[in-house]
Amino acid sequence: MKPWRRGSTESPFGSRTAKRSWNDRPQNKTGLQDMCERAVKTVLISGASIAGPALAFWLARYGIDVTVVEKASSLRGGGYPVDVRGTAIEAVERMGLYAQMRAAHVDTQSIGFVEANGAVVAKIDPEAITGGVRGKDIEIRRGEIATTLYTATKDTTNYKFNDSIDALQEHADGVNVTFVSGETGTYDIVIGADGLHSNTRALVFGHESQFERYIGYCFAGFTIPNTFGLDRGALAYALPGKNAVIYATNDGGPAFAFLVFKYPTSPFRKSLTDADKRDLTARMFEGVNGWIVPQMVGAMRTAKDLFFDSVSQIYMPVWSKGRVVLAGDAAHATSFMSGQGSSMALVGAYVLAGEIATKADYSSAFESYEKLVRPFVEMNQALVDKGKRTMIPDTQEEIDARNEMFRKMAAEAGGKVLEKDSSRLIHSALTLADYG
Ligand SMILES: Cc1cc2nc3c(=O)[nH]c(=O)nc-3n(C[C@H](O)[C@H](O)[C@H](O)COP(=O)(O)OP(=O)(O)OC[C@H]3O[C@@H](n4cnc5c(N)ncnc54)[C@H](O)[C@@H]3O)c2cc1C
Repeated sequence: MKPWRRGSTESPFGSRTAKRSWNDRPQNKTGLQDMCERAVKTVLISGASIAGPALAFWLARYGIDVTVVEKASSLRGGGYPVDVRGTAIEAVERMGLYAQMRAAHVDTQSIGFVEANGAVVAKIDPEAITGGVRGKDIEIRRGEIATTLYTATKDTTNYKFNDSIDALQEHADGVNVTFVSGETGTYDIVIGADGLHSNTRALVFGHESQFERYIGYCFAGFTIPNTFGLDRGALAYALPGKNAVIYATNDGGPAFAFLVFKYPTSPFRKSLTDADKRDLTARMFEGVNGWIVPQMVGAMRTAKDLFFDSVSQIYMPVWSKGRVVLAGDAAHATSFMSGQGSSMALVGAYVLAGEIATKADYSSAFESYEKLVRPFVEMNQALVDKGKRTMIPDTQEEIDARNEMFRKMAAEAGGKVLEKDSSRLIHSALTLADYG
C-alpha cells in the first residue's frame, strides 16, 4: 500500500476499513492466535497537551508500550485557564491526580460586565453562567494540566518532542510511521490527539474543512500587564458581535486578554500570516473607543504570545479508520464557547484507553469508544449556543437584556444564583465504566 505523505491527496487507508467481527476472523487461525495478534501492544500518540498524555497515562498503566510525538520543542506550560468539570472530575480522580490539579485551581471569584465608561453593570459568580460546581470543579491553566499529566507519565512513556508524523502506511500487522525528523517506527495503532487543526486527521481523513463547523467568530488571545488591579476575576465589555475580555489569575502574573469578534467565514480557508491576524483583529475593533479597547488593541499589535484562531468545532462522521483513531479536539473539538473541550479530552482518553485494554482487538475497541463517548460529546458541543448568547450577543438590545438579567442575578443573591438550566446535567451525563 502506498504511504500517505503530508501534501499528498490520497489516503493509504482508502475508504473506511470494514469492521471485522469475531465471526469474520481468518479461519486458518485459532481464535486465541487471532486475538493475540490483534491485541494492541504498541501505540503512537500524536500530541502532548491534554488528550495525548491522558491516553499515555492509562495505556501505560495497562502495560502497553506508548510513544508520544509532539511538534513543540518542549512541553508547553502555563497558558489560558480552562475548566475541568462533571464526568472529567471522576476521570481525574481515577488517575489519582485530583488533589494535584485542584492545588493549581485558579479560583476565579467573579465575572464583571462593564459598560463603555468602565462602570461595572453586574458582577456574578462564574458558576452562575457555566453551570459549574464551586468547590469541586478545577479551573486550571491548560499547560498545568499538560504538565501534571506529563510528570505522571514521563517515566513510562517515550516522549519525542520537536517532531511530527510525516507519513503513515498501514499494513496487516501495524502502521509504519515516518517522522519529519526522518526517524521511522512501526506501531500497532496510531492515535491522533493533536488538536483542532490535527495533523493526523489531515493525513488520514482529509482536509479539515470537511469536518470543521465554523461557529462564526474568531479570537485573538494574548497577555497584557495587569495594571487593572484585577485578581482572580474577569471583566468583559460586549458590543454587538464583539467582546473584549481581560482575565487575571491568582499568581500576580500578567492578565489574559481576549478580543473576540464575529466574522462571516473562517479566515483560515486561506493561509494567514501573523500580520494578517493582527490586522484583521485591529480592523474588527477599529472605532471602538469604549472601556480599555484601544489599549488592548495596542497590546495585541505587539504581543509576543498572540494566539489567534477561529471558534470552530469538529464533527466527523467516524473517529477511526483502520488502525488510526482520533481523540480530544482532533476528533470532536467543542470550542471554548462550550467550556468543555478539556473535560471531553480527559473523558475520551479514559474511555479509549480502557476499551483498547479490554477489547479483543483494536477495531472493536474503537467502535465501542465512539459509541460510548460520541453522544456525550455531542451534548456538550451543543452548549456552544448558550455560550454564544452569553458571551457575544448579536445586537445592542440583546446585550441590554443580558446585562439586565445579570444585574438581577447579582442583586438577588450576591451574584451566586446558580443557573437552573441543564448544563450541569450535561457535564456529568456519562457514567464511566470500570476497566480494572
Ligand atoms: C482561549 C481558550 C479557552 C478555552 N477554555 C476552555 C475551558 O474553559 N474549558 C475547557 O474545557 N476547554 C477550554 N478550551 C479548550 C481546550 O483548551 C481544548 O479543548 C483542549 O486543550 C483540547 O485538548 P487536546 O489535547 O485534545 O488538544 P490541544 O490542547 O489542542 O493539544 C494538541 C497538541 O498537539 C500538538 N500538535 C499539533 N500538531 C502536531 C503535529 N503535527 N505533530 C505533533 N504534535 C502536534 C500541539 O502542539 C498540542 O500540544 C479553551 C480553548 C481556548 C483556545
